[in-house]
Amino acid sequence: MAVNMPGGVFYLKKYGMEILMACLLLVSFFFLSREAAQVAGTMSSNTGNKKYQSENLRTILVDVGHGGADPGMIGVGGLEEKGINLEIALKVRDVLEKKGFTVIMTREQDEGLYDQDSRNQKAQDMQRRIALIKECKPVLCVSIHQNSYQDSAVYGPQVFYYEDSLQGKKMAELIQTELNTRLEVKRPREAKGNKTYYLLKRSESVLNIVECGFLTNPQEAELLQTEEYQQKVAEAVAEGICTYLEQQDIK
Ligand SMILES: [Zn+2]
Repeated sequence: MAVNMPGGVFYLKKYGMEILMACLLLVSFFFLSREAAQVAGTMSSNTGNKKYQSENLRTILVDVGHGGADPGMIGVGGLEEKGINLEIALKVRDVLEKKGFTVIMTREQDEGLYDQDSRNQKAQDMQRRIALIKECKPVLCVSIHQNSYQDSAVYGPQVFYYEDSLQGKKMAELIQTELNTRLEVKRPREAKGNKTYYLLKRSESVLNIVECGFLTNPQEAELLQTEEYQQKVAEAVAEGICTYLEQQDIK
């Protein structure tokens, strides 16, 4: 702009050096800040901390899988996942509240988080679960689900975490251990990393998906419908969470 002004040549001569210096300064500032951002990015992906900055250290979000038009997995005798999820999740809520936590539930009834007239209810339902986590900033989330498999002999609880999340992995291992011990699982599984599940990918808080058992295994499906077994599952999940928070120095 300056060189097109009348007397531009004089202007350029007189101020050229200053303009050049200012440009150099701007350029170096740009590169420095870019580098700083890259360093910060590397650090956060190493520790996994940046993604998980919670403001509410006593708030836990319990996500209840499926609901409403979405029954989830169908097990033996037409047993629907959504109902078992809710029964167990409500027990998880109760145990955590007794321990002094504030618990946010994604649903407390047989309903999804979608609008009835939504064109894609499933997508809207999932997006709203993620939006709720973003809004509430809980210290952590557990998403309660039930598994299924074509081979009805397969059974046992399985906890999933986002593969790149150190904290997610720690929490998953603790919950998995509690479930394996308290439910006396004969062939215990290990917590499993995953990079494709929508909730694991998108959650801004540490999140574990807890598959409590297989609705396709007749014995486990039977157990998962009893108050007693559901209570055991809930206590195992809550205990794993508490141990995790103690290890993070959040009590
Ligand atoms: Zn499910």
